[in-house]
Amino acid sequence: MTANRDNTIDIQLTASPVAEGQAVTGAAADTTSQALPGAASAAPRKNIFDLDRTQLEDFFEGVLGEKRYRAHQVMKWIHHRYVTDFDEMTDLGKALRAKLHEHAEVRAPIVLTEKPSVDGTHKWLIGMDPKNAIEAVFIPEKGRGTLCVSSQVGCALNCSFCSTGTQGFNRNLTTAEIIGQVWVVARHLGNMPHQRRRLTNVVMMGMGEPLMNFDNVVRAMSIMRDDLGYGLANKRVTLSTAGMVPMIDKLGELSDVSLAVSLHAANDELRTELVPLNKKYPIAQLMAACERYVMRKPRSSITFEYTLMRGVNDQPEHARQLARLMKQFDNATQMKDAAKVNLIPFNPFPGTRYERSDEDDIRAFQQLLQQARVLTTVRRTRGDDIDAACGQLKGQVMDRTRRQATFRKMLAEQEAGDASA
Ligand code: SF4
Repeated sequence: MTANRDNTIDIQLTASPVAEGQAVTGAAADTTSQALPGAASAAPRKNIFDLDRTQLEDFFEGVLGEKRYRAHQVMKWIHHRYVTDFDEMTDLGKALRAKLHEHAEVRAPIVLTEKPSVDGTHKWLIGMDPKNAIEAVFIPEKGRGTLCVSSQVGCALNCSFCSTGTQGFNRNLTTAEIIGQVWVVARHLGNMPHQRRRLTNVVMMGMGEPLMNFDNVVRAMSIMRDDLGYGLANKRVTLSTAGMVPMIDKLGELSDVSLAVSLHAANDELRTELVPLNKKYPIAQLMAACERYVMRKPRSSITFEYTLMRGVNDQPEHARQLARLMKQFDNATQMKDAAKVNLIPFNPFPGTRYERSDEDDIRAFQQLLQQARVLTTVRRTRGDDIDAACGQLKGQVMDRTRRQATFRKMLAEQEAGDASA
């Protein structure tokens, strides 16, 4: 395949079609060659995008029989200069390039469409296999550029206010498919780590629950933070979770990235309605896991995301409950401002039963939190005109659940009801 600088595509899809009902998991897509140099092998070539620095060094040593530092040269060509053809990696010898051609490839995901917004936000629809595509969004701001990355095709968690949730779930993305989103956007921006940095932050807040695709997400985040990758500081890579409690602990053992939690309600009854995962991991368990996460790293904090929906969770009593929960968190961690709140005015999508809160209610909600000395920001909506705002990402999901069908039926019933009214 060849991917051109202008983002046009002259690529043949190489992935096998996904049969209906069949999952192509990260493990199934893992094509690491076990062949030794020179050995005749029909093993598929390894996609280098799937490997972090240590794994690539192991691959160079174990599979290619080369010095480990050679892996560093290849990483720089791919992630700093966006070169995917081994023949263009001019500081590699001819023999090494031949071995690389035999055992490896650099296969980036394919850009299907891209849409710029009037406010500078940019959205890509990126093909992951012939039947599934995900969305990634870049949001430029003064002094920073944030990329919102997806971790799954669809999402299994079915939060009632989320557009992605209505699409059902197909599969986890591989490491290559996750870091490939960063590569596509960084290349588009002409980003050069350490020199011309246009991509300053990555948030794992796109489609999917990242902690349900743990290994691939952690590996991709390690490439984002590696100097040979995108060189982002730990605090500039944020993972957002709906509250997978055991995985928050596991993440804390392995990684120092920033954590954001999709809270949306401060009492269990309402949160379970909005985020069904809360039934399994109620608020008390979630907050305890957040405490453990934050206590590992002095002077760190957790951002609690709270989507404001009119008449659902935006009333003064909800703000007071949230303020109490946040203060309890600060007290438990013995850290001032360990809890930060990010209020997100709901972004409606077709068929949803929720509405955006009134501006007065949003302001009043923020004021109540601020009076309780809770650090609170309101997220400005970006990319509204291209459906790239928070909670609006859809992609194309060949649903393995029945959720898309159920949602379409509900939409049709709604429309029929409106027509007869
Ligand atoms: S809010 Fe996040 S976890 Fe919930 S359905 Fe949407 S993508 Fe999944």
